[in-house]
Amino acid sequence: MTQTKRLDGKWLSSRFQAEISSIVNSESKRVGRAPGLGVILIGDNPASHAYVANKEKLARACGFYTEEIRLPSTVSPSEALEAIQSFNKNPQIDGILLQLPLPAGLNQDELLDAIDPAKDADGLHPLNQGLLLRGGGHLRPCTPLGIMHLIDLALSEVEIGSADFLPSQLPKASLAGKRAVVLGRSILVGKPVGMLLLERNATVSYAHSKTKDLPLVTKEADVLIAAVGVPQLVGERWVKPGAIVIDVGINRAASGGLEGDVDFAAVEPLAAAITPVPGGVGPMTVAMLMHNTLRSFLDRMK
Ligand code: NAP
Repeated sequence: MTQTKRLDGKWLSSRFQAEISSIVNSESKRVGRAPGLGVILIGDNPASHAYVANKEKLARACGFYTEEIRLPSTVSPSEALEAIQSFNKNPQIDGILLQLPLPAGLNQDELLDAIDPAKDADGLHPLNQGLLLRGGGHLRPCTPLGIMHLIDLALSEVEIGSADFLPSQLPKASLAGKRAVVLGRSILVGKPVGMLLLERNATVSYAHSKTKDLPLVTKEADVLIAAVGVPQLVGERWVKPGAIVIDVGINRAASGGLEGDVDFAAVEPLAAAITPVPGGVGPMTVAMLMHNTLRSFLDRMK
């Protein structure tokens, strides 16, 4: 039996950083400024603070200019809108990140809709989501985009861990004839990743909390995406031998660490490839935020 590929998102993310930094270096000289990421952080959710710190650290490591607006959880909707408008108008800012979830009292859709679609680094503006549905658009949601790169890695001959690999060399895999099952249907992960899988010609099914006989559905999958937020829901009998298993879940374990939606120890031996948690999808989500910000910088500087 061939060995299961462990899809190392930390390594792949670091290779994106290397490639993005080199483009930023040459393009910043050409246009006279670096790409700018504007971050809006509302409230005091500790996980959101940790995620934002991580994203800003990677942005700086890529050579980006960063600006942050922090607002208290008691902020009014109009003050939150003003923060977004200030980044929309700021010529130094190419990508805007509104860190989710938002505190109660703020309407997520209303604020996401206010982001300039050309600066929508998270790909969550309805225009960009509509373009994705139509099969076009440049700014796709970060987690789904990261997942597609991990699937490409699973189906490639690339040596994981190689120090000189550049992600632009990663071939886009065809999923023609393959069945993909997406467990979860959120606007952030489940729905858009299904669209990206369809774009690669996979036969896609969605499963969710109202689906009957979940293991029967997921066992059909050649590519299984678990994005539910239920610790270790996906066990051995849910997975077809030889499947590619992408675990999006980030759940706090009783031990204090993080665990995914997949029972890694039980599923790894039968999968062809699998992402660990942590160190799989998470780092790729952050790398894709940089990828999107660079993309919108390059588009705006044309
Ligand atoms: P979400 O908005 O809460 O959506 C969860 C989805 O899972 C819903 O569609 C829900 O079904 C379904 N679901 C919940 N419990 C289920 C069950 N027992 N059986 C079957 N389906 C079930 O969550 P999300 O934003 O998509 O995030 C999902 C997980 O991914 C979370 O752990 C989150 O922290 C993590 N995440 C990770 C990253 C990353 O970068 N690694 C990024 C985003 C999210 P219904 O629609 O029927 O309610």
